[in-house]
Amino acid sequence: MNPRALFKLSYGVYVVCSKDGDKINGQIANTVIQVASEPAIIAVALNKKNLTHEYISKSGVFTASVLAQDTPLNFIGNFGFKSGREINKFEGTNYKTGVTGAPIVTDNTVAYLEAKVTGQLDAVTHTIFIGEVVGAEIIKEGEPMTYAYYHEVKRGSTPKSAPSYVEVKKEVKPVMAKYECVICGYIYDPEKGDPDGKIPPGTSFENLPDNWTCPICGASKSEFKKVE
Ligand code: FE
Repeated sequence: MNPRALFKLSYGVYVVCSKDGDKINGQIANTVIQVASEPAIIAVALNKKNLTHEYISKSGVFTASVLAQDTPLNFIGNFGFKSGREINKFEGTNYKTGVTGAPIVTDNTVAYLEAKVTGQLDAVTHTIFIGEVVGAEIIKEGEPMTYAYYHEVKRGSTPKSAPSYVEVKKEVKPVMAKYECVICGYIYDPEKGDPDGKIPPGTSFENLPDNWTCPICGASKSEFKKVE
């Protein structure tokens, strides 16, 4: 089996949210898909260890915000690489409450869907929640981000808990060394720089300012190790 074949699948990038009583949480997911149209049915696959999984299991409702192509990495890092068990992910983020009572993230969002769970499927490490769409709106015009754009243009990384995570040996023949964030797996590539952090292409890791931080998780330079 060649795991690289799995990279040929296409996805979007979403913030999936749910609630448990007064508590709310959300996480990044790439696995929101429409599975039927009359009525409109969507599905999402979430890791069983995630807090949002727990909330959807309890409340039977979820929302999915479709992220815009120009969403900054640190926004994705906040919802994708942190746990709602440790931080309030909604601090500093605009959101509203949907008809189901679940939160809907509106920052960096082109459109959202809101669903009531009608069924679920066990997928070993993940659960596929199936839901009937009960609300949907366009928030702003703009291109939705694809998962390929996130990886190839934004240079984002994927946590090991994601359904699409595939471990592949890194192939690097660097002129300037790449450095990997030990917290989130983000790779600093000197050839690309860090556009979100205003670091121009061609800046070596050593030449990054001392106060530069990981664009995804906010870790400091000392949390990076050289990619061998
Ligand atoms: Fe990081």
